[in-house]
Amino acid sequence: LHFTDAGIHPVMLENIKLCKYEQPTPIQRYCIPAINQGYDLLSCAQTGSGKTAAFLIPILSKLMGKAKRLAAPRPNPMVGRQGAYTAEPLVLIIAPTRELATQIFDECRRFCYRSMLRPCVVYGGADSMTQRLELTKGCDVLVGTPGRLIDFLERGRIVSLKRVKFIVVDEADEMLDLGFEPQIRKILEVSDCNQDDDKQVMMFSATFQKPIRKLASDFLADDFVQIK
Ligand code: AMP
Repeated sequence: LHFTDAGIHPVMLENIKLCKYEQPTPIQRYCIPAINQGYDLLSCAQTGSGKTAAFLIPILSKLMGKAKRLAAPRPNPMVGRQGAYTAEPLVLIIAPTRELATQIFDECRRFCYRSMLRPCVVYGGADSMTQRLELTKGCDVLVGTPGRLIDFLERGRIVSLKRVKFIVVDEADEMLDLGFEPQIRKILEVSDCNQDDDKQVMMFSATFQKPIRKLASDFLADDFVQIK
């Protein structure tokens, strides 16, 4: 598989070129077609394998084809208070740490270049007003850590998942090790993902321990693809 014959949007192909990625890595070879075909996914992924691009490329490429229609509502700066604005991302990516969230966000920004998609990142231990201000500029793709995401979902509806089409749980094993299972379950429940055929859920993990398999069977579609 080459990037050029994987059914990828031309804008994304340009961005892949700008990143100087010439060949897909093995995990990208497996994940890109499965995500393109609409499958939910549980994928084994080590850091350094190219797993971030393995989900960002097909997800963002799919959205680029429909960005005009799906573009998140931007607040009208002339009307109302910014504080009343709720971000309604189309993509939600959950990462265990601020460092990983920031890395994913950086890669996201490179892939969203010259598209109508706007990424944002939220994490704990940093000023939440600054993050909220970024959200009000438009948020199609939201990367975040579980605590801050829950906070924004619950507190004053800063973020809503009612339009979300793609959810990625990255480093799921790390997430469980850090005690984030209740938060992850809550987010996946709020987004109603196992009730909605239209939504795609992807989990990445270095190991497939029992709690990970349980999480997958609870929230992925029955016909999910497992990549080892
Ligand atoms: P990750 O496993 O997502 O943390 O990615 C590890 C590194 O590989 C990152 O610095 C990426 O920019 C890079 N990378 C991802 N995909 C490719 C590719 N197809 N060709 C070359 N480098 C890549």
